[in-house]
Amino acid sequence: MSEVNTLQVDIVIIGGGGAALSAAVHTDKDLSVLLLDKGQMGKSGCSPNAHGGLAVYYKDDRDSWEVHFEDTLLSGGFLNNQEVVRVMCKNTGGIIDMLERYGALFDRDEDGRLLVRKFGGHRFARSVFCGDETGHEMMNGLRREVYRRGIQFIDEAFVTKILLDENGRASGVFFYHIPTGDFYVVEAKAVVLATADAAGLWPAASERQRGDGIYMALQAGAEISDMEFIQYHPTHAWWPPGVRGSVSEAFRGEGGWLLNSLNERFMQKYDPENMELATRDKVSVSIMKEIRAGRGAPHGGIFASVKHLPAKHVKERLPVIYQKYKNFGIDITKEYIEVRPRPHYLCGGVVINERTETSIEGLFAAGAVTAGVHGANRLGSNALTDILIFGRIAGENASNYVLNRKKSNYNRSEVSGEITRIRSFFEKEWKDESLSVGKVRRMLIELMDEYIGVIRNEEGIKKGIKKLQFIKTELLPRVSLKDKSRVYNFELKDILELPFRIELGLISATAALLRKESRGTHYREDYPFRDDKNWLKNIVFRKKGDEVSYEIRDVELKYRKIEDFPEYAKSRSPWH
Ligand SMILES: Cc1cc2nc3c(=O)[nH]c(=O)nc-3n(C[C@H](O)[C@H](O)[C@H](O)COP(=O)(O)OP(=O)(O)OC[C@H]3O[C@@H](n4cnc5c(N)ncnc54)[C@H](O)[C@@H]3O)c2cc1C
Repeated sequence: MSEVNTLQVDIVIIGGGGAALSAAVHTDKDLSVLLLDKGQMGKSGCSPNAHGGLAVYYKDDRDSWEVHFEDTLLSGGFLNNQEVVRVMCKNTGGIIDMLERYGALFDRDEDGRLLVRKFGGHRFARSVFCGDETGHEMMNGLRREVYRRGIQFIDEAFVTKILLDENGRASGVFFYHIPTGDFYVVEAKAVVLATADAAGLWPAASERQRGDGIYMALQAGAEISDMEFIQYHPTHAWWPPGVRGSVSEAFRGEGGWLLNSLNERFMQKYDPENMELATRDKVSVSIMKEIRAGRGAPHGGIFASVKHLPAKHVKERLPVIYQKYKNFGIDITKEYIEVRPRPHYLCGGVVINERTETSIEGLFAAGAVTAGVHGANRLGSNALTDILIFGRIAGENASNYVLNRKKSNYNRSEVSGEITRIRSFFEKEWKDESLSVGKVRRMLIELMDEYIGVIRNEEGIKKGIKKLQFIKTELLPRVSLKDKSRVYNFELKDILELPFRIELGLISATAALLRKESRGTHYREDYPFRDDKNWLKNIVFRKKGDEVSYEIRDVELKYRKIEDFPEYAKSRSPWH
């Protein structure tokens, strides 16, 4: 394997999704900027796969950024960082103009006004869309702007470590180049982290959210929070297996129904006011309760239907879902489909403030990798809003930070340690299939789903922690590499990710055990109610050396108090 190659820039951005590209195009034009993406810039990550919309347009006269702000807090169970949410909702103006300037186009009516659709938990329809291919269109625009600005990027660059100087400031990153197997150090005055969340610790619909950035930030000493809140998307396509993947919330937003085996729209029981457009946390638990009560569909899911809507409307508004099922011989304008909740989005991540600063100087973070925006449950279509706005803020603030700042020296022993760690897999003898990284990874995600899933309890979480510890101490040290080639060694990539996942899994399970209440996406059947007296708190984790510690921290109710919403305050329901 070759020696380390060194690159020098002002700002290095880790990621190639919407948050990373938004950061890149908002950096100062006079600075040198490098994007590093483990996949392909603008094409990997969740962003191009986002379907339904982005919540940015207050078309209804009764709607405003303040209403959006309140909806986000109510859905997040008031665990959100209110200052951060306020900045997001106040800055939605201009987002669509910006994307359209970059060449992205969104659906409009005959008078040229933007069309909007309603997502669960939003009081008004405020989500702009492009059919059910919104993320794809948005990323096409952002990618063009990256090319137009001449921003440098390296694809298939797997960053495994954030480098610090002797004062603990972020001073660059280390990456492993997947196509060649070469090692690189990028020296930089500021690092922007935009590597998405860690829903891939569970069997998520998208395998892309591996939690690398959350782990690397933790490892570097940053705070991470809200790791117990894994959002299950209520309508993951379940049958036939080939069709699996998320069925966008646009399906319900356009008027889709959920039905049990008795042909009842069962949401009537759980939320007669909002029905299928209740928040995702509530819909997921309601579906699981129906399935557990024996009223599920034949293959373990529940029925969903748009049969009652005009076929033309379905084909126009949900073209991807329509075609996807059509490929399997199912016409959704005529037949029910079978769906089931699946892990979708981890609301927790790296703690940031409204300027996207983390607790490490010089390290900025934006998008799904962060905590604070969504609290205990993310509203559908708020993720794209989050990544565009905080990506922009990260790009601008990182630029301000590096102006007039000299490069500092990273700790070289961190790089040699990383190289030794990676090389050790090439030197270790291949054991056997039972300890392949694929097998261990599957064990891990299955146990997260079983014990730290939609419905949890103390006994199950403790079992999950025990199994995670077994994987960490007994299996992980024995996992070995079969493929010893340098070029495009994806098995090595998977092995390098494994310790990240195990550590974050343990943190998530620990937080789930500590939180003795139900709130948002954290539903404990042994503590089924919300407990505002004891649990208006974030559980914040930190790592020093090998020791991970936590602090249970009061939430600052800076702009809105629970009492401002008397009905919510009175109810002990986990959900809004
Ligand atoms: C199927 C689906 C549909 C969705 N629909 C919607 C919707 O309609 N509306 C909405 O608001 N949200 C939606 N979401 C959620 C939303 O798409 C994501 O939360 C959001 O796009 C995340 O953006 P991001 O830039 O933070 O991360 P991503 O877009 O996931 O990008 C992360 C990037 O980091 C890179 N990366 C990761 N680790 C490393 C590493 N170690 N080194 C280098 N690079 C790394 C990845 O390759 C990737 O490029 C959907 C999600 C999915 C999966």
